[in-house]
Parts: sequence; C-alpha cells; structure tokens
Amino acid sequence: MIIAVTCLVAIAVIAFILGVRPKDLPEPEPVSPFQHLDERKAAIYENLRDLQFEYRLGKLSDADYQTTKQDLQKELAAVLAEVDKLSASLGTAAAAKPAQAPKATARKAGFTCPTCNAAFDKDLKFCGECGKPMKVAQ
Ligand SMILES: [Zn+2]
Repeated sequence: MIIAVTCLVAIAVIAFILGVRPKDLPEPEPVSPFQHLDERKAAIYENLRDLQFEYRLGKLSDADYQTTKQDLQKELAAVLAEVDKLSASLGTAAAAKPAQAPKATARKAGFTCPTCNAAFDKDLKFCGECGKPMKVAQ
C-alpha cells in the first residue's frame, strides 16, 4: 500500500514537472531564490572583470567599455535590489542564513569585549580598552 502511494506521488510529481515546465526552460529550479540571484551576481562580476581585462589590453574603445560597463552595473543594481526585496519579504529567516553571514566568521577569530566591542586575539580577563570584565564574550 505504501509503495503504491509512493509510486502514485512520484508519478504525480513527474507529471506536474513535465506539465508545468516546457522544454524551453533549460535552467533547473534553484535550491533557494538567493542562490539564483547569487549566481547572476557572480556572472555579472565576472563579465565586469573580463570587460576590464579586455579594455586594458586595448581590445575595446572607451565608448564601448563605458557602455558595456554601465549596462552591467545597471544589471547588477537590479539583482542587488531583488536580493534586498527578497530578504525583506523573507524577514529574519533570510538574515539568519549562514551562507549570507561573513561577519560571523570574522568575529569568531578573536575575543570581543561585551561592553565596548573592542576585539582581542587573546582571552583576556579584563578588556584592554575599557577595563570591564571580558567574561560574557561570545
Ligand atoms: Zn571593553
């Protein structure tokens, strides 16, 4: 019975996928909406790098370089705006995403004063900046 139900669900899912998604959509569904935007952002950054590289080699005219750069920057701004919109609509869940939190890793490296936020690379008893105890750190 369970196997039969599982098969039915699988068939329904496949039928749904085939029905909903026509062949002219080659991209697979992104795992998270952020991943999709991150990939677009990365692609734009890469294009900007290539553009700069070719410009330095003298392959592009000033005008071509400026036009293409502005187009890419406009595209980048649109992607960043989408990321912002998405984070806002997802609220705290998005903010808590570990992949989007490079600040957390930077802080882990040292010990931070809970009073004045001064950072030290040693575990001190008292803060060297404000003299308050460091016990509550992290
Ligand atoms: Zn302090």
